[in-house]
Amino acid sequence: MIVPMLTQPSDLGERADCSVQGRLLDIDRFASHDGPGIRTAVFLKGCPLACEWCHSPESQSATPQLLFQSQRCVACWSCIDVCPDNALTRGFEGEHEAVTLDRERCTECGACATACYPGALSMAGRIVTVAEVVDQVERDRAFFDSSGGGVTVSGGEPAAQPAFTFNLLAACRERGLHTALQTTGYARWEIVERLSRVADLILYDVKLIDSEQHRRYTGVSNELVLDNLRRLLSVHREVLVRVPCIPGVNDAPEQIAGAAALLAGIGVERIELMRYNAAAGAKYDWLGRPFGFARREAQSDEYIKRLTRIVVAHGIAVAAA
Ligand code: SF4
Ligand code: SF4
Repeated sequence: MIVPMLTQPSDLGERADCSVQGRLLDIDRFASHDGPGIRTAVFLKGCPLACEWCHSPESQSATPQLLFQSQRCVACWSCIDVCPDNALTRGFEGEHEAVTLDRERCTECGACATACYPGALSMAGRIVTVAEVVDQVERDRAFFDSSGGGVTVSGGEPAAQPAFTFNLLAACRERGLHTALQTTGYARWEIVERLSRVADLILYDVKLIDSEQHRRYTGVSNELVLDNLRRLLSVHREVLVRVPCIPGVNDAPEQIAGAAALLAGIGVERIELMRYNAAAGAKYDWLGRPFGFARREAQSDEYIKRLTRIVVAHGIAVAAA
């Protein structure tokens, strides 16, 4: 069923509130994989899922976190004096002099990141207002106009900050920008529905069809995700389901066939198969966390073509990833 989409924020009977604050991870200009054209991707901090393969582990926690890239350390020792918790000491990284960080002591106050001019220490996450983000996004308007692009709000999980995400998308809409929302779908339906009113396009992740496997690898079951998807398809005409293909987790031909059958059964007409990103491991190191998927490799072109044929055989088109 195609339902007319709301096209103007004024249809909502309210204006965007640009004073609302949210937790921002990063803003990525000239993104090209998160919707049509050249896009500015706004990554928010905090996610209710904890996918083991997450390529943005610094987005999972809602609070600011200290990242340490030891190879950037030039051993100036400026950070040691400013740390109120004595979490930093002189040390070595192999042959190379570098500060040593004791994460047990660190309270993630951020003082050392301010003192570290080479950027070896940095904080992931800060509080911003909608107005600050819209200001930055608007600087790329010329690129949006020439490419058919716009803004994509991603995460983390944007629905975990519903007021901020709603007002950010609505403010961009009011300025005539194309808006996309990337979501795991793991939120109350009322939130997903409300956000869908200010998103021209929804990029909706479906990771695993088997609920127990979903819980094992992401920390939550998938009933809410699939239920919200069914409902969303009945109220929004631009929903692109994205399936991240994770080696050894969900990318076996029979698993993709099972996903395609389920998605076809609920009315999905087009999906994107996302090849595994093997380059994510470094960020786990910056957070001092182990990365269990370090040795997994991205699927070959041939393998992705094989999975594509399986999906197409179920009557679903596959968008280029
Ligand atoms: S301030 Fe930065 S570059 Fe200097 S010792 Fe600390 S981590 Fe290394
Ligand atoms: S974030 Fe604060 S407590 Fe942690 S190492 Fe840096 S200065 Fe010390």
